Amino acid sequence: MSITTILICAAITVATFLFWEFVAWLTHKYVMHGFLWVWHKSHHTVHDHTLEKNDWFAVVFSIPSIALFYYFSLVKYNPYGLAVGLGIFCYGVFYIVFHDIIVHQRIRWRPAKRSKYLQRMINAHYIHHAKHTKEGCEAFGFLYAPKKYEPKQFIFKKERQETQ
Ligand SMILES: [Zn+2]
Ligand SMILES: [Zn+2]
Ligand SMILES: [Zn+2]
Repeated sequence: MSITTILICAAITVATFLFWEFVAWLTHKYVMHGFLWVWHKSHHTVHDHTLEKNDWFAVVFSIPSIALFYYFSLVKYNPYGLAVGLGIFCYGVFYIVFHDIIVHQRIRWRPAKRSKYLQRMINAHYIHHAKHTKEGCEAFGFLYAPKKYEPKQFIFKKERQETQ
């Protein structure tokens, strides 16, 4: 593989990753808080189960990445197609680390040093979870939050239940 191909692939992966935040935002706003609220509702409900119906979204969202990897490696080799699959996969990894671990503490770990960006992102998601309804929620992004969600006084919620 030439250096040019590697650079183009890297650019495609980064672009796909960023675009996927937009796809996730759109899905969250119009599908999860729309006709698939039946799945997402479990994520806006206080409970003590390990898994939620909402986790089906993670399964569904892994399909395009798996399909791209499969098709562009085994059926018809194409590094650019693989780069798209990798971008979606990376988004999935970030989503798990940010949303499921750092915000919701499904695994109890949090970075000791938190940037303004990270606090803003977490705060925005707490605001999203302040409501337990299909309608009337705000802040649908997962990895990006606008500046208006900059917390003045930021208090971390310790338990998963408290964030919902
Ligand atoms: Zn939601
Ligand atoms: Zn959440
Ligand atoms: Zn809630």
